[in-house]
Amino acid sequence: MIYLDYSATTPPNIEVLDAYHKFNQEFFANSNSSHELGLSTRQKIKETGELIQDILDAKSYEVIYTSGATESNNLALKGFAFSKQYFGKHIITSPYEHSSVTSCLNYLAKQGFEVDVLSIDETGKIDLDEFEELIRKDTILVSIALINAELGIRQDLVKIKEIIKRHPHVTFHSDMTQAIGKLRIDLSGIDLISFSAHKFYGLKGIGVLLRKRKITLEPVVHGGKSTSIYRGGTPAAPLIYALGVALELAYKDFDIKHKKIQLLREYLIAELQKNIKNIHLNYEQSIPQINNFSFPGVESNIIQESLSKKHIYISSQSACSSDFSFSVTVKKITNSNELAKSSIRISLSHLTEKNEIDVLVKEIKVIINENH
Ligand code: PMP
Repeated sequence: MIYLDYSATTPPNIEVLDAYHKFNQEFFANSNSSHELGLSTRQKIKETGELIQDILDAKSYEVIYTSGATESNNLALKGFAFSKQYFGKHIITSPYEHSSVTSCLNYLAKQGFEVDVLSIDETGKIDLDEFEELIRKDTILVSIALINAELGIRQDLVKIKEIIKRHPHVTFHSDMTQAIGKLRIDLSGIDLISFSAHKFYGLKGIGVLLRKRKITLEPVVHGGKSTSIYRGGTPAAPLIYALGVALELAYKDFDIKHKKIQLLREYLIAELQKNIKNIHLNYEQSIPQINNFSFPGVESNIIQESLSKKHIYISSQSACSSDFSFSVTVKKITNSNELAKSSIRISLSHLTEKNEIDVLVKEIKVIINENH
C-alpha cells in the first residue's frame, strides 16, 4: 500500500495509540465524578489543556474539546453568530473554505444572516482591498481558513490580521485544520481557531475550538457538565489526552520533518514533469504537504480509481467534496474546465519515502498512456 492522502487524514502515530490505550486503562473515570479517580482524570484533562496552550502559545484561549473540526466550525460560526445577532448579521468569508464552514454559513444565511464571499486574485489569495471595503458596522464575523485543503493555498494571515485589527468590532475565526501540526503559526489576533487531531497523526473523533476569552458563544451541543460551558457532554478524556500527545509529537523535530516534505515535493514535481508530458501543476506556491496536478484529457476519478486498484491512495478533490470529476476549486484558480476535470491531490508526509513517489509516477504514467 502507498498512502498519499495525508491531508484527508493521517495514520495515528503508534505512540499516540499507546498513550490512548494506557490512559483508558488507568483513567477511565468520568471526569465529572467527584471521587479520586474522577478527580485525577479531570486533572489529566487540565494538564492536556495547558500543554496545548503551551505548544500553540495560546494561554489567552479556552481550549474547548469537540468531536472534530466540523463540530468546532459549527460551534464557532453558529455559536458566535447566534450569540452576536443583536449587534449585526453580516459575515465575510473566503471562497476556499471547507464544506463544514460553507454549509454552516449557508444555514446561517437561511436564518437571516448576510454572508459575503470574497474574491480571490490570480495567486489564490483573497482580495485584501475588497475585504476591507466589505467590512461594515454590522459585520460581526470573518471566517477565513489559513490553508485550503485541496490546493494548499496559504492566505496572508498577517495582512488579514492587520485589517481586522483596524475594525475591533469584528471577530475573526480561522479554520486551521490543514495548518495546525503542519506549520508553525502565530495565533495572535485570531479569536476562534478550529482544528482536528486526525490531521496530525492523532485519533479521529476529537477536535478543538480555541476561544479567545472575551468571545462568547451560544452552545450548539447543550447538555451535561463538560470542560466548557459552551459544549455539553462527558469529556472524552482518553481522546483529549491522545490529542495532546499527538500535538506534541507533531511539533517534535518539526524542522527536519518539514524540510523532508519540502524535498519530497520538489522530487514529486520533477519526476512527474520528467515522465509525463501533459501535466499541469495547479498551484505552485502551495504548502509542501498538498500538491495538486491535472492531467488534461484524463478524468480525475479514472486516475484515482486506477491508482486505488493498485493500492496507491490519493484523492481527486478533497475527501469532503462531491464525488464526481470536477473541482470547483481548481476551476477557480486555473479558469479551465479541462484542468478542473482532471485534477488530483497528492498529499505528502514526513513518512513518505522517495521510492513511493517513484512507484506513483510510474503508475500514473501507465494510466495516462492507457486512457489517452
Ligand atoms: N476543515 C478542513 C480544512 C478540513 O480539511 C477538514 C477535514 N477534511 C475539516 C475541516 C473537517 O474536519 P473533521 O474531519 O475533523 O470534522
